[in-house]
Amino acid sequence: MSEFKLLIGGKLVDGAKFSPVLNPATEESVTDCPRGSEGQLNEAVAAAKAAFPGWSATPIDERKKVVNAIADAIEANADDLARILTQEQGKPIGDATMEVYGTAAFFRYFTSLDLPVKVIEDSEGKYVEAHRRPLGVIGAIVPWNFPMILMAFKLPPALISGNTVVLKPAPTTPLTSLKLGELIKDIVPAGVVNIIADENDLGAPLTAHPDVRKISFTGSTATGSKVMEGAAGLLKRITLELGGNDAGIVLGNVDPKEAAPKLFQSAFQNSGQVCIAMKRLYVHDSIYDEMCDELANIANNTIVGDGLEQGTQLGPLQNKMQYEKVWDLIEDARKSGKIIAGGEKVEGKGYFIRPTIVRDIEDGSRLVDEEQFGPVLPVIRYSDADDAVSRANASDYGLGGSIWSSSNDDAYDLALKMESGSVWINKHADLAPNIPFGGARFSGLGTELGEEGLLEFTQLKVINMAR
Ligand code: NAD
Repeated sequence: MSEFKLLIGGKLVDGAKFSPVLNPATEESVTDCPRGSEGQLNEAVAAAKAAFPGWSATPIDERKKVVNAIADAIEANADDLARILTQEQGKPIGDATMEVYGTAAFFRYFTSLDLPVKVIEDSEGKYVEAHRRPLGVIGAIVPWNFPMILMAFKLPPALISGNTVVLKPAPTTPLTSLKLGELIKDIVPAGVVNIIADENDLGAPLTAHPDVRKISFTGSTATGSKVMEGAAGLLKRITLELGGNDAGIVLGNVDPKEAAPKLFQSAFQNSGQVCIAMKRLYVHDSIYDEMCDELANIANNTIVGDGLEQGTQLGPLQNKMQYEKVWDLIEDARKSGKIIAGGEKVEGKGYFIRPTIVRDIEDGSRLVDEEQFGPVLPVIRYSDADDAVSRANASDYGLGGSIWSSSNDDAYDLALKMESGSVWINKHADLAPNIPFGGARFSGLGTELGEEGLLEFTQLKVINMAR
């Protein structure tokens, strides 16, 4: 029996079965986690459907009070949530704590937004206004790299705009979401939020369920494409936040010593398991050698270990499959480039890989062209900035990118040429709840966060009156 429960129709219930959640630092079971059956998924959707008329009719200010109360509960239990997050995900406890408080802040941000009726035309002949109505039951599907904050891209805007939710975390990181269910059971009216863990088998039936009106999905491009297919038959709304292969381009006027720590953090935070991590670094020929040395030096001095241990800077890969995938890319990069830091497995238990820097590697190699989603960075030499931008744009992905320069004007001109959903200058991966976020091409569809992110959970309804 587990201390964790599913939340269905306002009740904490056991799963139809149980299976372990592994701590990636030790490969030992954190707990036997309840896993829902398809029957329980259907119950969750039915509960959300039944709760929708009442919740959507609740005034927005009342809904905001509930969302703020969820933020309060997250903050009041931050230590517990952070510990569970480190145990299931692997990240250092300091980062986990930041993720938990960030989650509460994202919930609060959405309570600052409103959905006012907008007057489009008020003339002699007609009066036209636009309303934003909730959609109904939302299926929220989350991956394993940031189980809490990515949930907070979805739950608060869905709730503020009057929808009800079935949340499905990733099978390897369900515990923080289930803990959240326990914390909000008496805060949220029954059925408004339902939380169900699975064995990677309930995403497809949730997507295809006839009573679910929208799927808000974060995960891999391959699965995102299946979500699109699954939603097509019933023309459901979808938001897809998918993979990326973000390029950073460093101009020759940058001081390598000063920029290297920021570049390293951009690539290796969360052991590189970040959708908008910097995944390819293009460095100008004139500073290439020095930059490679600086990065290698930082990598060699980074403390990798169990996230619960004091001083750990990078944790393990979250799961065995990802560990093997990243290891395979490192083995391939041994042939196509030169490894100057890391490239070794860490002895003993746990899915650890030391931060790895690969130099003298080119476009066309697997490590440059594919999304590694792990602690290994290819550093590519270039001599012409426009050519570097073209190479950055040559990817199927288009999530983010960055330009690093001592001249903001030069950087800005290049930023205009980059074809991705976000472009940062002299930083990378700066996400905030008020800044809309979305990907181009294979990186996704639609927008999360900001006012645009709220509107994606609504149906536009126009009332057009003759006068
Ligand atoms: P994944 O696609 O394997 O799984 C994501 C979620 O989808 C899980 O909850 C999973 O159970 C569920 N799922 C599995 N099959 C499904 C199906 N047929 N229909 C619906 N749902 C299904 O992704 P992952 O391996 O957990 O996450 C890593 C990937 O996520 C990386 O590619 C990364 O870049 C991407 N990601 C993107 C963003 C972003 O905002 N763009 C953020 C984080 C991660």
